[in-house]
Amino acid sequence: MLMCRDLADIASDYIDGELTNRQNLSVKMHLMMCKHCRTFIGNLRASTDLLKVHASRQENEELIRKIDERVAEALGARKSESDGCK
Ligand SMILES: [Zn+2]
Repeated sequence: MLMCRDLADIASDYIDGELTNRQNLSVKMHLMMCKHCRTFIGNLRASTDLLKVHASRQENEELIRKIDERVAEALGARKSESDGCK
């Protein structure tokens, strides 16, 4: 039988879906009986989701910055091209 301490060790793998079927089942059985661990998993899942949202927002900002750079480069390149046509 899985103990609370064991569950805490594998909780993040459980949330990421990286446990074996057997481990998954014992976590689920433990969660059915243990309110403390249900709360723990719930909190952990919520903060994991929050981190993911935060990470993807940072990626978006990075992407937008790169696009801005490309646009600025393209505009700069076009400007010097037309300068050369004089
Ligand atoms: Zn427990």
